[in-house]
Amino acid sequence: MTNKNPTLIADTGKIEYNAQVITTLCQHDNIQVAAVTKGVCAEPEIAEAMLRGGCTMLADSRLENLERLRTQHFDVDYLLLRLPMISEAEETVRLADISLNSEIATIKALNSAAQKQQRPHRIILMIDVGDLREGIWPETIPTILPEILQCEHIILEGIGCNLGCYGGVVPSPENMQLLLEQKRLIESSYSISIHLVSGGTSTTLQLLASGKMPTGINHFRIGEAILLGRNPADRSPLPGTFQDTFILRGEIIECQWKPSVPLGQIGQDAFGHLPVFEDRGIRLRAILALGRQDIVVNGLTPCDPEVQILGASSDHLIVDITDTQHSYKVGSTLSFFPNYAALLAASTSQYIKMSKKSVLTDMA
Ligand SMILES: *Cc1c(COP(=O)(O)O)cnc(C)c1O
Repeated sequence: MTNKNPTLIADTGKIEYNAQVITTLCQHDNIQVAAVTKGVCAEPEIAEAMLRGGCTMLADSRLENLERLRTQHFDVDYLLLRLPMISEAEETVRLADISLNSEIATIKALNSAAQKQQRPHRIILMIDVGDLREGIWPETIPTILPEILQCEHIILEGIGCNLGCYGGVVPSPENMQLLLEQKRLIESSYSISIHLVSGGTSTTLQLLASGKMPTGINHFRIGEAILLGRNPADRSPLPGTFQDTFILRGEIIECQWKPSVPLGQIGQDAFGHLPVFEDRGIRLRAILALGRQDIVVNGLTPCDPEVQILGASSDHLIVDITDTQHSYKVGSTLSFFPNYAALLAASTSQYIKMSKKSVLTDMA
């Protein structure tokens, strides 16, 4: 492990374990799991841990990330999650085996690219079952379907839906049934078979665990539940999984006793907010070399429960360490558990290094 700070430390053993818990749960219902890697910018070692844990596909929302994964030559299908831009149709066909789609113009562009590259491209047609993010409205299937079937280099691999992202709609037996009904309708109207029915994301696991998932859904795209062991609908821990899979470590660059209320007239802070302060007397404050460029401040939880985050500016994170039992000083490091938003930000920051360890394998 490197000593460079800040560092995001990933425990690949715990991530693999989480993947195993979730893929096992899904296997009971014949559901295969695509590992969603966008939360960690497709870090190859983490993708590998997810595959070892039983995921059978790699999925990401960015082509750059799929390209990064491809250099590892994992023997699985690569799925593009975000609807492709028409301007990147050629890259999509080159880098993704399957992509999620909802626009005929894009599908036609993919068809031309697939023809040019002599490489058939598979698509999952997204159907909006209520969340109002991507997907066609079910009534428009008869308009788009014949056009898709005319695209000779496009294979309609499946249909899918996305929930809980924009509208916050919770997966239910009803919206899953609505998706399954579309599969039956398409199959009978066009005499084709739809292999994949991609029912959703981490939030859908709760429905599965409750035993109310209708039969026929056979594909999930799972990120957060594996990476952080949480249900995104309410951030509750998923039974049997680890939540301490990632730790963000920062270094203290100043550590001094100061009043808890600033001196002088208070104006807006660097981000346009008018700060308010509670007078708690003189406190021991530490400044870490970490800031909003690297993290989502309210997405961090100090690993030491007696450390309290006070705030942050672009490059500084300020914490109160008066109550802690530890004697932190300049040069010491403090650790934090990131939530999904903070994980995404830390993985994307060019200033934060990611390092990998595996407590589980070290113990074995
Ligand atoms: C991000 C994303 C996922 C994964 O979501 P999680 O909540 O992390 O499981 C699945 N599908 C699509 C289309 C996505 O954009």
